[in-house]
Amino acid sequence: ELANRMAERGSDLIKALFNLGTPSAMDDLIDQDTAELLVTEFGHNVTRVSESDADIDVDQDVDASETLQPRAPVVTIMGHVDHGKTSLLDALRGTNVVRGEAGGITQHIGAYQVQVKSGDKVTFLDTPGHEAFGDMRARGANVTDIVVLVVAADDAIKPQTVEAINHTKAANVPMIVAINKIDKPEANAQKVREQLLQYEVVVEEMSGDVQDVEVSATKKTGLDELIEKILLQAELMELTANPDRLAEGTVIEAQLDRGRGAVATVLVRRGTLKVGDIIVVGEQSGKVRALIDDQGKQVKTAGPSMPVEILGLSGVPLAGDPLSVVENEARAREVAAYRASVATGKRTGAAPVDMENLFANLAATKVEQVPVVVKADTQGSVGAIVGALNRLSTDEIKVRVLSQGVGGITESDVLLAAASKAPVIGFNVRPNPKAQALAKRDRVEFLYYDVIYHLTDAIRERMAGQLGPEY
Ligand code: GDP
Repeated sequence: ELANRMAERGSDLIKALFNLGTPSAMDDLIDQDTAELLVTEFGHNVTRVSESDADIDVDQDVDASETLQPRAPVVTIMGHVDHGKTSLLDALRGTNVVRGEAGGITQHIGAYQVQVKSGDKVTFLDTPGHEAFGDMRARGANVTDIVVLVVAADDAIKPQTVEAINHTKAANVPMIVAINKIDKPEANAQKVREQLLQYEVVVEEMSGDVQDVEVSATKKTGLDELIEKILLQAELMELTANPDRLAEGTVIEAQLDRGRGAVATVLVRRGTLKVGDIIVVGEQSGKVRALIDDQGKQVKTAGPSMPVEILGLSGVPLAGDPLSVVENEARAREVAAYRASVATGKRTGAAPVDMENLFANLAATKVEQVPVVVKADTQGSVGAIVGALNRLSTDEIKVRVLSQGVGGITESDVLLAAASKAPVIGFNVRPNPKAQALAKRDRVEFLYYDVIYHLTDAIRERMAGQLGPEY
């Protein structure tokens, strides 16, 4: 790559590297200082694309206080399975006065915004649950301002309720408790409030400072009150952003669309994103060809806290990737390429050998492994599945994700799986005919799921089978 850029022969560079005392192969990664030295040796000028130069980190510079304006809070809904997260998200979507007037065509783009009568807005992330929340956070993307913890009044605190509380606390995000299914005759809101005390969640009615509200997602009661409490919490937090600058945002979902190419839903954090802007999104770059809002309408701009779908990217970014607007396309490509090369270096670079590592490796060889290949319909699902699978691992047996990706199952997935005698997990996706034929030949198993816990149950069973009866 460096030889190409300097229009020199690769073998000459290898020779020079050898003379510098750093013997290297053609596709080895060399560090910046060595590269600079080489470039100077060959009589070229160094244009340094350094890490600090190339990595336009979101949140690096601070906006002056006079540029700041209030922005809508971003809310994630969490809670135990079947406690009504999805129902609540759907019900809240219906409280939108603007959409109510428009006739109610909703587009699932990974997030939506509700505007209430006062004109205030709230942004809801469409992927409920703490898995997606945790995965985004693991990637450094803290987009959630407020968590709504859903607890069914006929069921009270369950394991995933506790996990959601733990995630929320770890992220230092304020919580509002929505006590759902209050319409049910056996509903007992007081029991929920009391049980929450055990987890140090003290709601207002128990003289604490966590707001709580009784709702019914199916009967649509208490929803206005819930929105009011979210807005009150947001006011306390003084959420602001500067809308008058080049936009920065975070990818919350991305996929390859057959007709439209790479599509990413981005939540704008600050600035205003415009059609025609040149953007870098993770390792991808492009020019914003169109912006589409949560009602499927094309829009020209998107300001802080607004989720929009972006068309015009070179490839599919990952959920959690940062978006930045840059001056020109050359710069966008340069930054994207630099990030990709750093990522490849990280992926292929062997970990440095130290004693601790060595022992860890030795110990690791004794651990049983269950290899899998994961393909899913959206980046959000991929993240959630891999996260859930990793959590299944114990000291004795580990799930090893050989590869993970968005889209249908391809021949390359099957080949990879065949080499390790692994199954290919398809989450809301299916293999293409060639992959199917290949799987038949190589006896590769496909496992199809559309519910994550069905998938984890099945893998857990396999792990138990592999370990034998004592497990
Ligand atoms: P999730 O797994 O947390 O997303 O839960 P869902 O939204 O899928 O809801 C699980 C079940 O509870 C569904 O059958 C819903 O119809 C039902 N449900 C959700 N909210 C309410 C409610 O407020 N009242 C009653 N009676 N049922 C509800």
